[in-house]
Amino acid sequence: MAPIDPHSFTDSSHPLATHISLSLFFDFSSSTIHSSALLSLPTPHSGPISLDTRSLSINSVFDPLTKTPLPFSLSSPSDPIKGQSLTISLSNHSKFSIIFTTSPSSSALQWLSPPQTFNKSLPFVYTQCQSIHARSVFPCQDTPAARICYSARLNLPRQLFSVMSARHVERRAPGAGEAAMACDDSMWCAEGRMVEEFVMEQPIPPYLFAFAVGEIGFREVGPRTRVYAEAVPAVLDAAAREFSGTEDMIRVGEGLFGPYEWERFDLLVLPPSFPYGGMENPRMVFLTPTVIKGDASGAQVVAHELAHSWTGNLITNKTNDHFWLNEGFTTYAERRIVEAVQGEDRAALNIGIGWRGLVEEMERFKDNMEFTKLKTNQEGVDPDDVYSQVPYEKGFQFLWRIERQIGRPAFDDFLKKYIATFKFQSIDTDMFLNFLKANVPGIENEIDLKLWTEGTGIPPDAMEPVSNIYTKIVSLANEFKQGRMPREDEVADWHGQEWELYLENLPKSVEASQLTALDAHYRLAESKDYEVKVGFLQLAISSKCRDYYSEVERTLKEVGRMKYLRPLYSALVQGVGKEEEKVFAKRVFSEARDCYHPIAQGVVESIFSKHL
Ligand SMILES: [Zn+2]
Repeated sequence: MAPIDPHSFTDSSHPLATHISLSLFFDFSSSTIHSSALLSLPTPHSGPISLDTRSLSINSVFDPLTKTPLPFSLSSPSDPIKGQSLTISLSNHSKFSIIFTTSPSSSALQWLSPPQTFNKSLPFVYTQCQSIHARSVFPCQDTPAARICYSARLNLPRQLFSVMSARHVERRAPGAGEAAMACDDSMWCAEGRMVEEFVMEQPIPPYLFAFAVGEIGFREVGPRTRVYAEAVPAVLDAAAREFSGTEDMIRVGEGLFGPYEWERFDLLVLPPSFPYGGMENPRMVFLTPTVIKGDASGAQVVAHELAHSWTGNLITNKTNDHFWLNEGFTTYAERRIVEAVQGEDRAALNIGIGWRGLVEEMERFKDNMEFTKLKTNQEGVDPDDVYSQVPYEKGFQFLWRIERQIGRPAFDDFLKKYIATFKFQSIDTDMFLNFLKANVPGIENEIDLKLWTEGTGIPPDAMEPVSNIYTKIVSLANEFKQGRMPREDEVADWHGQEWELYLENLPKSVEASQLTALDAHYRLAESKDYEVKVGFLQLAISSKCRDYYSEVERTLKEVGRMKYLRPLYSALVQGVGKEEEKVFAKRVFSEARDCYHPIAQGVVESIFSKHL
């Protein structure tokens, strides 16, 4: 008896379920889902089996063949991080059914009322299951060490459509007897309801389970790609334009990492409250609308989510302690795709932005250096609280270091072999290191692998990128410190990323008059590019340039992406002499809270709890 993951009740002595079949009745009036789940084990099991749940009401558990109830218990009180363990007693069962209802406060689900959507006439709901939120949608062994196939039957109001991280089978009228006790037949088959069916035949970790339900339309953008979004022609057209180069990127990815294994690579653009830039749900990547900037720069986020098709989704970290295996590899792969599609300068710029981000994380974690390691110990730690750039950027730096050591052709061969060897498996840091040492003999004598994976901080052989554009931007930022603003001819060809890097390299606090002058010239606070806008507003807050606080408020109320919420709220409440800012932050959050996904709400509350 031993837990296999610090974030799960899954026990090493219990079998891992291989398939789950879900019937989900969406009740928008109560923001709940009436559900049934049929779980299958590889072999019959006798004795207890523990599943993860959070804020689920479990109505019954039974043998699906005989309909005999099975004894179950829910652990109490609920663990603040892991939730509740649902323990079921089996006697030679290989299948069991659970009838349950989700809670309106389910941490994975954001229920948007019609006024919170673009069209303002119909509701919308979507999932974000990473890191440990799948358990708030259905009981499961919610650890990436477990991989599961699934099928799902979604019962929706007729005006709504659904997408999933799965193959769409059909949309049709509901049939009697197929509710599988999720609700009674009269509800399931009521006038005005439709059923959509999906199957996922490839085993995925539970955090990649995903659906969205709403007034969803789509545009074709490539032979295996559609862009989905709220069915507003202007939104769909802008998204289709932004992502028109997707097929080129898939081909580059295949050239670098081997065949694309997931058949479809569709994209879903979510409402602005989506808490991340993108989520790599297989077959159906979820994206924030803030990546649509009209200049194809959103391609970088798509490159990242696409790269996850190999690293993260095919090869998955065994637990969140090894999250860098997902994100470090994906950041490396993303930059290789960007380099191939958009050129070396663009890739170097991305590396530079990442480098600045990594340096800043060292400052953020200076009192808790554990989370500057690649291989972390997250026992008793909420993964959303310690989410940072470290697994992405230090992981990237580690792989880039190996590439420099053995040369790109050898590293490319190594990557292909790594993916082919471990695909559809969940692995940990030691498995990676053993594979590395076996395939690159003597590497441990050239690179301090232990320092890189278990040490804190940034190792001395990490590297800032070398490129003309990067060097020029950093030197212009240094000149700003001496009071010189960049001339128009110097920034004439700058896009959002150049400005983002420039702002990141300015001192944390500058003269208010200097900032106002910069903005008067280049209109950064009003930029349509949120990276630029938020970079500038963050600087304005830390420089106490209060002229911009109304823009800060507007921004915090129109987007829910944590990449923007974290720095803005942190800048407002961190440090001394910030009484006015703290009151302001609390008021804005209380007014904006309902527009944020529950994960983002939790992250802002956690920032407040540390500083207020
Ligand atoms: Zn990622």
